Amino acid sequence: MSLKSCLLAGVFAAGLLSTTASAQDAATVAAAEALRDKALSDNIAFDFTREITTRFGPRPAGSKSEQDAAAWAADWMRANGFQNVRIESFPLVGWERGEESIEIVGAHAQKLVGGALGHSIATPADGIEAEVVRVESIEDIQAAPAGSLSGKIVYVDPGQMVADRQGSGYGPRSRIRTQGPKAAADQGAAAFVIRSVGSDHDRMPHTGTTGYHDGKVPLPSFSLAAPDADQLNRLIEMGQPVRLKLSSTARTYETHSQNVIGDITGATRPDEVIVLGSHLDSWDIGTGAFDDAAGGGITIAAAKIIAEAGRPARTIRVILYGSEEVNQPVSHGNGGGAYVRGIGEAIEKHIVAGESDLGADNVYAVGLPVGTLNSDFAKIAYRVLAPLNIEEGGEERFGGADVGPLARGGVPVFGLKQDATRYFDLHHTANDTLDKIDPAQLRQNVAAWTALVKLIADSDVDFRAIAAAQTGSAREE
Ligand SMILES: [Zn+2]
Repeated sequence: MSLKSCLLAGVFAAGLLSTTASAQDAATVAAAEALRDKALSDNIAFDFTREITTRFGPRPAGSKSEQDAAAWAADWMRANGFQNVRIESFPLVGWERGEESIEIVGAHAQKLVGGALGHSIATPADGIEAEVVRVESIEDIQAAPAGSLSGKIVYVDPGQMVADRQGSGYGPRSRIRTQGPKAAADQGAAAFVIRSVGSDHDRMPHTGTTGYHDGKVPLPSFSLAAPDADQLNRLIEMGQPVRLKLSSTARTYETHSQNVIGDITGATRPDEVIVLGSHLDSWDIGTGAFDDAAGGGITIAAAKIIAEAGRPARTIRVILYGSEEVNQPVSHGNGGGAYVRGIGEAIEKHIVAGESDLGADNVYAVGLPVGTLNSDFAKIAYRVLAPLNIEEGGEERFGGADVGPLARGGVPVFGLKQDATRYFDLHHTANDTLDKIDPAQLRQNVAAWTALVKLIADSDVDFRAIAAAQTGSAREE
């Protein structure tokens, strides 16, 4: 059989080409709709988010508070009907911020509001004082005349990020945050500073991990709050050299992190696993309500609401991943990598995965697993999600940082795309706290996850085979 006829046979067998939904489909749809509506008046997600953020506060990757939160979350799962609950540990290099300061020295001396980027190395004990050179991009750093950045503090301002629903300004700027220090070090710079990667105009720096190169972070690296980046710009534009003094006592240490894993075991096909992911760690300066306690609340609530109505056919596995936020001297994929190594060949039984890690505001679109857009499954999913004002969002290929290793291992992914308009005002700041969560929008998220996961869990669509056939036929053409 050719690959294409093989694909068609597989699709036919899965019922995807039938024009009318079966009685079983109708029952599944009715059940998903009922659970969707129940989720709209359920507070489990908010309660879970409140507990995690209140009891443990900030949960930096590898910290005692992340470890304690994981133990508590595992107990919570056991007490709330999850089975096979376990904690999967993995080694991690942790990071502590210590003390820090940024100030302008000389003429116009004044303190600025900013802080070290995650995993930045410390400055010498008496700080680093040097002239600032402002650029707009990594490419500007690389194109600088030889010697012109030597001994200087390289300050990258790509312009203020503008908020939008997709968070589209984040990717290019986070690349500067992770790759910029290496580019500056290659030009002999003494330190690296970036305008905060965020869309707010508040006097709060946005932290976030910087990047390792050959096992080291090459320079002390900082971010400035947006108003302080503006202030520094005005001083530079006055035309006289501006000198900054940077100080940080940041340090790394050997520790461990962990994934918390719990199952709603499938009634008839328990070895077929659906992964619902989020991450338990947060940055040190906020309590990580948006990023990403809410994701844990949303996924755990969806699984619990489904389970309370009776066991689904397939197994629903909730994973609260450890250490999503930080880069490492040698990358092993953090929690997502540890999980994939742990399951070994059982990855073949992971039929689909999804991740909630873009805050707690409404889901506005659904991205479906590769190859399913024109299927009956898609029609049903769109119909069940439409009353929540969720649009058709094409195919999902990325999934998220935590389920990324599963996706690269051949597991199809879906995406319930959240409105990120507010997200990058709060992301990685001291302002990422519980009060920012709108309980009604959080419930809309839970309703979307509950309905879609219920449809997947009771479906016999082989998402893996469809995605594999699609990739295979694309390769053949
Ligand atoms: Zn996150």
